Amino acid sequence: MTDRVDVLVIGGGQAGLAAGFYLRRAGVDFAIVDDQPDGGGAWQHGWPSLRLFSPAKYSSLPGWPMPPQPGEPFPTADHVVGYLREYERRYQLPVHRGVRAVGVRAVDKEILVETDRGDWSARTVISATGTWSRPYVPHYPGQQVFAGRQLHTVSYRGPEEFAGQRVVVVGGGNSAAQILAEVSTVADTIWVTQYPPRFLPDDVDGRVLFDVATQQLLARRNGVPAAGVAGLGDIVVVPPVRAARDRGSLVAQRMFSRLTTSGIAWPDGRTEPADTVIWCTGFRPSLSHLAPLGLGRVDGHIATRETEAVDDGRIRLLGYGNWTGTASATLVGAGRTAKQLVTELRAVAGTRRG
Ligand SMILES: Cc1cc2nc3c(=O)[nH]c(=O)nc-3n(C[C@H](O)[C@H](O)[C@H](O)COP(=O)(O)OP(=O)(O)OC[C@H]3O[C@@H](n4cnc5c(N)ncnc54)[C@H](O)[C@@H]3O)c2cc1C
Repeated sequence: MTDRVDVLVIGGGQAGLAAGFYLRRAGVDFAIVDDQPDGGGAWQHGWPSLRLFSPAKYSSLPGWPMPPQPGEPFPTADHVVGYLREYERRYQLPVHRGVRAVGVRAVDKEILVETDRGDWSARTVISATGTWSRPYVPHYPGQQVFAGRQLHTVSYRGPEEFAGQRVVVVGGGNSAAQILAEVSTVADTIWVTQYPPRFLPDDVDGRVLFDVATQQLLARRNGVPAAGVAGLGDIVVVPPVRAARDRGSLVAQRMFSRLTTSGIAWPDGRTEPADTVIWCTGFRPSLSHLAPLGLGRVDGHIATRETEAVDDGRIRLLGYGNWTGTASATLVGAGRTAKQLVTELRAVAGTRRG
């Protein structure tokens, strides 16, 4: 049996739900498949102290603003999960849970999506599978011989287990800064980054990132270079990060060149002992289901024009990063990009009917 819809969305996290909102509003026949038993996407798997870097009302999907969390100016991951689950119910989005897309193929005029629970056929497929299931750890010599523990952000559960240790935190983004801020309260920490970390001024929070995203979007649409004051990767000085900086714990060293059996070593021969290395080194898009299409690549990812795969306009990618729409990997950006995507699909459908 093959189910058929006009548009199939793969992934029911924030990006998939934002697409669902606009597809429903446009009266499109669509469905969403998601491999998790419950709603909330990647936010379900974050560490307990993970917080948004902006207040709730700046972190909303289209239609219904995220309610504030009492007593928490920067909402917790649990609060975001609750919001996404309620959003799904509120707009009665047709999410089929526990369904994993394993292969997407072009078959004549249709796109066939093979899942572990039967096949779907659609005119257009929106891939919104996020990045959480593909943690990225760069390769460094000595990773195999290091006798201590190595873990990625995805496995981090809080600072307690590192009490009394000597911990190396790798990475120059918000995850690294937030994890370092709390681990440094119980452990001796060393922070290493590939490039000098860039902090936003203390008096601005994640809202400024969305302003920058808006400037970048407008600049791109008008074909002029974006003149933003900050990049979307800049570190937001949330209260725990500020406290760590004031304690002197946020001083970054340049990246080491290798691991040794007992720690890390720099090219000039300097070494430091370590019990644990936490790799806060980001993620890669989860896109193995699109492999059968053999879509062309550029700069290490599928070639896109905003959300559209350059090789096949019936395949859309949403939520993975700036290469799939400006700030599309944020709550606010996912909504904006989804709106544009659905507008384009409707224009294509109109042309077809005409
Ligand atoms: C540490 C951290 C802090 C962040 N802080 C902020 C912040 O403060 N503000 C902000 O706006 N953004 C923030 N982000 C970014 C962003 O909000 C998240 O990365 C977001 O979860 C991405 O949403 P998504 O819908 O694209 O992907 P996901 O939330 O990962 O959803 C994708 C869904 O698809 C499912 N899936 C995957 N593969 C398949 C498949 N083959 N078949 C079916 N289903 C599949 C997944 O299980 C998941 O349920 C943060 C991200 C991180 C990592």
